[in-house]
Amino acid sequence: MNILNYISGKFTEPDSGEWLEDLSPATGELIALIPKSNQNDVNKAVHAAKEALPQWSSLTNLERANWLDKIADKLESKYEEIATLESKDTGKPISLAREVDAYRSVKNFRFFAEMIRDLNNEIFEMGDATNKVIYKPVGVGALITPWNLPLYLLSWKVAPAIGMGNTVVCKPSEMTPLTADLLMKTIDEIGLPKGVVNLVHGDGIGAGSPLVSHQDISLVSFTGGTSTGSLVAKSAASSFKKLSLELGGKNASIIFNDCNLERTVKGVVRSGFLNQGQVCLCGSRILVQNDIYEEFIDKFVLEVESMKIGDPSDENTILGALISPEHLSKVEEYIEIAKSEGGTILTGGYPDLSEEYKNGNWISPTVIADLDVKSRCSTEEIFGPVVTIHKFNTEKEAVDIANNTRYGLAGSIWTSDLEKGNRVAEEIHTGMVWINTWLHRDLRVPFGGVKDSGVGREGGRWSLGFFSEAMNICTKHD
Ligand code: NAD
Repeated sequence: MNILNYISGKFTEPDSGEWLEDLSPATGELIALIPKSNQNDVNKAVHAAKEALPQWSSLTNLERANWLDKIADKLESKYEEIATLESKDTGKPISLAREVDAYRSVKNFRFFAEMIRDLNNEIFEMGDATNKVIYKPVGVGALITPWNLPLYLLSWKVAPAIGMGNTVVCKPSEMTPLTADLLMKTIDEIGLPKGVVNLVHGDGIGAGSPLVSHQDISLVSFTGGTSTGSLVAKSAASSFKKLSLELGGKNASIIFNDCNLERTVKGVVRSGFLNQGQVCLCGSRILVQNDIYEEFIDKFVLEVESMKIGDPSDENTILGALISPEHLSKVEEYIEIAKSEGGTILTGGYPDLSEEYKNGNWISPTVIADLDVKSRCSTEEIFGPVVTIHKFNTEKEAVDIANNTRYGLAGSIWTSDLEKGNRVAEEIHTGMVWINTWLHRDLRVPFGGVKDSGVGREGGRWSLGFFSEAMNICTKHD
């Protein structure tokens, strides 16, 4: 199966004639070949987006919102196909691909259709003049996405970007091209005007980097690792492109003595290991107050060991494979580092799977205790099924540990004292904190991080703001 670029409404082969392999995380088998795009492919895609811009940006919000709804309708009819492709390409369990990836990909288009339909100019009256704030498209956008939530994150960018009148060039992760291709086929089938959405496949150096630095790109929305984000920011800065960066995290889950222990254990296992721990929001540092430390650990390890690992297409599977052999090696290296740093492995190792999975990227969920809160494993992003557990005594100590990393994306607090929960939440240096829950998403709220977790916010009206230029027109009264 060969996947193609989508440029100016046509599926096209790469200029280089070269292809990259897309491998199954679960079995190591070849799934597809994808274009190894280069500067020429990027130039063609940006040109197509630029050509389409005047016509597309002249549509009304209502007309563009109707297009988003058409995409949502068509995607919804492919719900099961999205889940199956996503599970195959990422190695994640099919149930998760259905509940999270397929569900949110459709929802993102519907949600932004509704927001854009309701968007009005803002009026600010002065005694002698009226200010009218209008929202204009920025231009051609570059949308770059990672492999952990492929269509979920791509649709999160495409919908508000084109909804606000921009045209775009997408560059999905080279490791998970299947649902990006499905989105292009969907867009093609509904007859979206050509050039409004274009897509180049390929790696970061060959396709991502020339896209970000292209002179006709006016905005860059990037989700990925912090070190890549830094390169993207440098490249975008010299020509003052509008920039949104959603980067890595090392999020703390703070568990107080007075929490509901049963619910907290379930919630913190989910937050530690959802998608094999490959979610930027995962709570990979678990801070437990002294009185319940031992009891929490016993219950937590039991719950972790009860998760079924294996065949991603099995409805009962909770944990699938890691994305690539390289990523598995990185996770294994961190476990070795933890041992050398004095950590105790409470549970971990490798799952016992059938022959079919012998070339896949498998590891069991790993829980590590006794590490210093400043150790590498407790402060660096591992992005896999590995959590570290630490004991704290006071509220202040919990806050200090939570804030003790270069990252500042998210966190969760577990307590029956909601006043304390809110007080502690306000002290955490992140963009988001959940109390007695995790990854409970309302698409209207701001999403993003501080420190090395990113720049800017997306979500709800923050997305509409990022994907547009606000302009004020002030009219003096007679
Ligand atoms: P990555 O940074 O390696 O790649 C992300 C994307 O950037 C890919 O499409 C890649 O091809 C492209 N890319 C690579 N080099 C580039 C360059 N020089 N210029 C332009 N594009 C380039 O990240 P990944 O391994 O795919 O994803 C995992 C990371 O993403 C983790 O750090 C995770 O925390 C982060 N993430 C963050 C969020 C968030 O919302 N904050 C969400 C999901 C994942």
